[in-house]
Amino acid sequence: MIKDNLLYVNEAIQNIKIKNHIEYPISLLAVSKTYPATSVSEAMDAGQVLFGENRVLEAYSKFNDGLIKDRKFDLHIIGHLQRNKVKEAIAIANMIQSIDKIETLIEVEKYCQKINKHIDFLIEVNTSGESQKAGINPESINSFLETIQNQSFTFCKLKGLMTVGPLTDNKNEIRKSFRSLKELFDYCKTQLDNPDFDIVSMGMSNDFELAIAEGSNLLRIGSAIFGRRE
Ligand SMILES: *Cc1c(COP(=O)(O)O)cnc(C)c1O
Repeated sequence: MIKDNLLYVNEAIQNIKIKNHIEYPISLLAVSKTYPATSVSEAMDAGQVLFGENRVLEAYSKFNDGLIKDRKFDLHIIGHLQRNKVKEAIAIANMIQSIDKIETLIEVEKYCQKINKHIDFLIEVNTSGESQKAGINPESINSFLETIQNQSFTFCKLKGLMTVGPLTDNKNEIRKSFRSLKELFDYCKTQLDNPDFDIVSMGMSNDFELAIAEGSNLLRIGSAIFGRRE
């Protein structure tokens, strides 16, 4: 049951926070990719408001389903955003977590301006060095921030950083990856004059305990809530 899973995950988060003496809030994003609107509706019944989806068109049709479209939710796009899907993404989401190209951001800004809608975004960072992974190289953070500042976006608001941990059972490697995102976040904070830069998005079903211990304040959890994906 989704309701029980949510209860279980929220309890686990509380316990990990206590164990690590963490007092700041940690948000739970329920990743509903591949699951139907009925599952999202069930999670909403259990009080879940924040959702994440990978694929824009899937998200667009799911969250326009009559079962959920008029209910209260926040939706984050967490997968690669293609430039030709910007319109649908902006229509349905209030945050894009997966920005790793300025060109995409420029498209988003243009469209947001056109429809007069503000959107939050995170910079996705490849902290594991895995070559097939999305995200900017940590070394290019300075030039990325500089370009963002030079563009003086008014509709797109930078809120923090996001990473996907390495695909491995090696806890040290996962920890190292999360730690480097938090260090990069702290560095960015010193470089930016932006009080709203406060999100560290990391941690999924299999590694959220490590992510919390390393400073995550936004967990993206799918299978532990909705069950294993086909
Ligand atoms: C699928 C996905 C998640 C959730 O993964 P689970 O292992 O199901 O918790 C989190 N973040 C991103 C970017 C994803 O694609």
